[in-house]
Amino acid sequence: MKPLVFATHNQDKLNEIQALFPISFQLISLHDIDIREEIPETASTLEGNAIQKVQYVYKRAGIPCFADDTGLEVEALNGEPGTYSARYAGMHASYADNLKKLMLRMSSQTNRKARFKTVIAYTNGYVTKTFEGVIQGTIATAASGRNGFGYDPVFIPEGYSQSFAEMEAKLKNTISHRAIAFKEFILFLTS
Ligand code: IMP
Repeated sequence: MKPLVFATHNQDKLNEIQALFPISFQLISLHDIDIREEIPETASTLEGNAIQKVQYVYKRAGIPCFADDTGLEVEALNGEPGTYSARYAGMHASYADNLKKLMLRMSSQTNRKARFKTVIAYTNGYVTKTFEGVIQGTIATAASGRNGFGYDPVFIPEGYSQSFAEMEAKLKNTISHRAIAFKEFILFLTS
């Protein structure tokens, strides 16, 4: 077993990602290495934030680790909400608040192009690398579907007519930005 820290406080996220890894990798959480505080995410890019998180954790624990950061980038809004995706409508905004703000900003826009991007950063103390997953799509004019989370009800991936929230989780988790980034990362770790 090779211990690998996933820089998250979210046990559900850890379990979901653990299922993608070969059994020879044992993912451990920040809780397992006694990091209780929120890790600073003050960079202006997804890459910067993911690297900031792994460097912080490696400095504290000295164990290989990875972190992910995801954002929705809307073309007509100059890439917003981007790194602010989780707190678009404010520091403690809910998914519904963020969605409402996005739809308001998009109400007069005819260019509906958007993309989800996930960046994973990894460090083992010697090398630090990043892996990226992108899915292109459009922002719907109204929310639909009950699956998923976040901006899923309004994001329609290219080549599909359903929103992410109308899809079966299995389909979303095969084609998503996160799936693409993790596939690349796991390939790197196992080759
Ligand atoms: P995180 O970096 O994974 O915490 O994602 C930041 C924010 O982006 C989340 O709080 C969600 O609002 C949004 N987000 C991330 N991934 C997805 C997704 O797959 N669907 C919809 N929204 C997402």
